[in-house]
Amino acid sequence: MFTIDAHLDLSMNALEWNRDLRKPLSEINRRENGMVDKPDRGKATVCIPELRKGEVGLVVATQIARFVSEGNPLPGWHSPEQAWAQTQGQLAWYKAMEDAGEMVQINDLESLEKHLHLWLFELPWSYKPIGYILSLEGADSIVNLSYLEKAYENGLRALGPAHYGPGRYANGTDATGGLGPNGKELLKEMERLNIILDATHLCDDSFWEALANYNGPVWASHNNCRALVNHNRQFSDDQLKALIERGAVIGGALDAWMMVPNWERGKSNPKEMDCNLEKMIDHMDHICQLAGNANHIGIGSDLDGAFGREQCPYDLETIGDFQKIPNLLTKRGYSPTDLKKVMHGNWLGFLKNAWKE
Ligand SMILES: [Zn+2]
Repeated sequence: MFTIDAHLDLSMNALEWNRDLRKPLSEINRRENGMVDKPDRGKATVCIPELRKGEVGLVVATQIARFVSEGNPLPGWHSPEQAWAQTQGQLAWYKAMEDAGEMVQINDLESLEKHLHLWLFELPWSYKPIGYILSLEGADSIVNLSYLEKAYENGLRALGPAHYGPGRYANGTDATGGLGPNGKELLKEMERLNIILDATHLCDDSFWEALANYNGPVWASHNNCRALVNHNRQFSDDQLKALIERGAVIGGALDAWMMVPNWERGKSNPKEMDCNLEKMIDHMDHICQLAGNANHIGIGSDLDGAFGREQCPYDLETIGDFQKIPNLLTKRGYSPTDLKKVMHGNWLGFLKNAWKE
């Protein structure tokens, strides 16, 4: 079934992990044999051939670069200009993949419809480019608001103002505090440009302020439920309800620590913690119970977000295994119509609504 994944860090993997994502996964992982610079070396689950195999024909793909002021222990650049340059390198990789015929940028209704037609009705699946909607995870690299318009011209269609820690426009996971004047100005400019607000990673203070200050389309690209795994990175039921009220779609994430409680990074393993794809269904089902329908969930896997098989469901070997999800939903009593909504329909409906003239 045609599938949309609303959160992958493809260009980060290409440039910071040095992965040629056009290659088969076995080859990518073999080449990382013996490398110990990152915990997920040799354990990648995402590459372009596997996206094709899993019928993941459309993804929301990130640019990501943090600014850190002195004393901030998180990894990041020492100026917003450096962070901007990093995101432009990431964009250059997406563009090179377009030139190579591997990917195609989707940035309006027309390109979306054309791409859907290609995936649903044309050519054998093996030759189809992966559609990508450009998003920005953390707004630190937007040097000033004039850069947001440049980013929009480059295809940016969704933006999460914060990532981990304190940000220049909003505060993110593990931080506290609201938006401040810069954050509010950013939201105003996003609204003018019709850039989707990605609520993921906003800390509680910034989350509520962002919803109050932004009137455009809102989604949460990769987010699970606090009621099931208690952490500030996850949304509380009140936050989920507010998102549902705004017509948001919330993407289920496949990072093990967000799926099962008491995960210890670098120590726990998926099998022992009983972390399987069913756990993602638990989070999705929780949201459906709050909504009273299946109209607000989708997939936002984050499967290449600095982790691999050591920290994802044990019954998923590659992103191609997404095709196991419909069956799991059926077992929970979801209808054939619901399956389509989860695999692609809800994201598509959201985009068509956000991009309508
Ligand atoms: Zn993230």
